[in-house]
Amino acid sequence: MLYTTNCIICGKQYSFEVSDEGYKRWLEGEHIQYALPTLTPDQREIMISGICGKCFDKMFEGE
Ligand SMILES: [Zn+2]
Repeated sequence: MLYTTNCIICGKQYSFEVSDEGYKRWLEGEHIQYALPTLTPDQREIMISGICGKCFDKMFEGE
Protein backbone atom coordinates (compact mmCIF):
# COMPACT_ATOMS: atom_id res chain seq x y z
CA MET A 1 0.00 0.00 0.00
CA LEU A 2 1.01 3.61 -0.41
CA TYR A 3 1.38 5.33 2.94
CA THR A 4 0.85 9.09 2.74
CA THR A 5 1.31 11.55 5.56
CA ASN A 6 2.22 15.16 6.21
CA CYS A 7 4.97 16.31 8.51
CA ILE A 8 3.36 18.00 11.53
CA ILE A 9 6.11 20.65 11.57
CA CYS A 10 6.86 21.67 7.98
CA GLY A 11 3.64 20.34 6.43
CA LYS A 12 5.50 18.64 3.59
CA GLN A 13 3.77 15.56 2.23
CA TYR A 14 5.57 12.26 2.19
CA SER A 15 4.38 9.06 0.61
CA PHE A 16 6.08 5.74 0.28
CA GLU A 17 5.25 2.10 -0.27
CA VAL A 18 4.83 -0.10 2.78
CA SER A 19 3.84 -3.74 2.81
CA ASP A 20 0.17 -4.30 3.72
CA GLU A 21 1.11 -7.13 6.00
CA GLY A 22 3.88 -5.23 7.76
CA TYR A 23 1.71 -2.14 8.18
CA LYS A 24 -1.03 -4.21 9.79
CA ARG A 25 1.47 -5.80 12.15
CA TRP A 26 2.82 -2.37 13.09
CA LEU A 27 -0.72 -1.11 13.87
CA GLU A 28 -1.22 -4.17 16.02
CA GLY A 29 1.77 -3.16 18.09
CA GLU A 30 4.76 -4.87 16.55
CA HIS A 31 7.94 -2.80 16.64
CA ILE A 32 8.23 -0.88 13.37
CA GLN A 33 11.77 -2.08 12.77
CA TYR A 34 10.54 -5.66 12.66
CA ALA A 35 7.20 -5.04 10.97
CA LEU A 36 8.58 -2.76 8.25
CA PRO A 37 12.31 -3.44 8.02
CA THR A 38 12.74 -1.94 4.54
CA LEU A 39 11.84 1.61 5.55
CA THR A 40 14.55 4.20 5.96
CA PRO A 41 15.07 5.73 9.42
CA ASP A 42 13.43 8.96 8.18
CA GLN A 43 10.37 7.08 6.96
CA ARG A 44 10.08 5.28 10.27
CA GLU A 45 10.36 8.57 12.12
CA ILE A 46 7.50 10.23 10.28
CA MET A 47 5.28 7.19 10.79
CA ILE A 48 6.00 7.07 14.52
CA SER A 49 6.12 10.74 15.46
CA GLY A 50 4.69 12.57 12.43
CA ILE A 51 7.94 14.50 12.10
CA CYS A 52 10.05 14.21 8.96
CA GLY A 53 13.77 13.49 9.06
CA LYS A 54 14.73 17.06 8.23
CA CYS A 55 12.62 18.59 11.01
CA PHE A 56 13.73 15.89 13.40
CA ASP A 57 17.38 16.74 12.76
CA LYS A 58 16.63 20.45 13.15
CA MET A 59 14.97 19.88 16.53
CA PHE A 60 18.07 18.27 17.92
CA GLU A 61 20.71 20.34 16.22
CA GLY A 62 22.33 22.85 18.52
CA GLU A 63 20.74 21.52 21.67
ZN1 LIG B 1 9.19 18.35 8.30
